[in-house]
Amino acid sequence: MDNLFVYILHQEGALHDSAAELAAAAQGLAPQATAILAGHGPGLKAACDQAAGLFPQVWKIDDPGLAQANAELLRPLLTRLIPAGGVLLLAHEHFGMDLAPGLAVKLGAGYLPDAVALAGAHDGALLAVREEFAGLVSAHVSLDLARGAVITLRPGAFKALEPGAAGQIQDKSAEALAGGLPAARRRYVETVAAEAGEVDITKAEVLVSVGRGIEDEDNLELAFDLAKALGAEVSCSRPIVDAKWLPKPRQVGTSGKSVKPKVYLACGISGSSQHLGGLTGAACVIAINKNPKAPIFQRADVGVVADIVQFLPLLTKAVNAKA
Ligand SMILES: Cc1cc2nc3c(=O)[nH]c(=O)nc-3n(C[C@H](O)[C@H](O)[C@H](O)COP(=O)(O)OP(=O)(O)OC[C@H]3O[C@@H](n4cnc5c(N)ncnc54)[C@H](O)[C@@H]3O)c2cc1C
Repeated sequence: MDNLFVYILHQEGALHDSAAELAAAAQGLAPQATAILAGHGPGLKAACDQAAGLFPQVWKIDDPGLAQANAELLRPLLTRLIPAGGVLLLAHEHFGMDLAPGLAVKLGAGYLPDAVALAGAHDGALLAVREEFAGLVSAHVSLDLARGAVITLRPGAFKALEPGAAGQIQDKSAEALAGGLPAARRRYVETVAAEAGEVDITKAEVLVSVGRGIEDEDNLELAFDLAKALGAEVSCSRPIVDAKWLPKPRQVGTSGKSVKPKVYLACGISGSSQHLGGLTGAACVIAINKNPKAPIFQRADVGVVADIVQFLPLLTKAVNAKA
């Protein structure tokens, strides 16, 4: 496929976690994908250097007005750079969701949000898969390549690419900014850092995840003890957040976070489609549930039929004994 582009986010000189996943998705479609990074100064340069390890070609757009990511400013710049029929991939996170639909309109391209797989190009169409109705239905979507496409990819759905040989970095600032920066109706105010101690479950390698089966708020301690023994983080299903037993940033699922741990221990979680929607990127799912017919066992790689209130302390003891 010709004209494949990937928009890459970065902050303080480091690429966003999605960069390597986007690179893998792009490599599956075409060997010659071009990464586009916008920003300003040394941070942008450092990010472009890293992106060159993932993409054969990197386009840089450097301007003081782009120091903070602003989708409103970027849309016209990307419209100048991406040719008719071009395909742009970007991450389905807040910025991508903001940038992508309006950009697709400006490019006259098709728009597909939250794709979980790309099946390649056939007969002038790009085939992609997205989950509908919170994962109950897999929709296979065909995008007309003559029109081009803007596609956001679900974090965790693609296995990250390892950095390799250095690609070429090209400064496209003059071309992108030929008409100058547009007047923006929104402006950057401030960056609010996450509260100290707040966990980022999307980065955890092992998650001990609790659901309504934990029965009592006091029993959460059992999950935290196991997480400590395993060097894991604790996440949860939505009812635990609704009950205010754990904060929203720990919720996994379609209205929570998409996670990609190596091991996900689902403890007392039934396996609703909304919960499983956040598990696409989990490498190994271990389910512990007292109901052998719980749907989570269909997704699980390993299943344990047990009462978690009794089983979790035994597991913690066994892990600690091995340490
Ligand atoms: C628009 C929308 C968005 C949603 N988004 C999300 C989301 O992002 N994330 C999410 O999780 N949910 C989400 N939900 C809610 C979702 O539909 C389910 O209600 C929820 O996932 C169920 O959580 P659960 O598995 O913890 O609870 P339940 O479905 O009640 O399951 C509890 C499980 O624990 C087992 N159990 C009970 N006691 C024990 C015990 N002692 N030992 C072992 N097992 C035990 C039971 O057998 C059962 O399987 C959403 C719903 C809607 C409508």
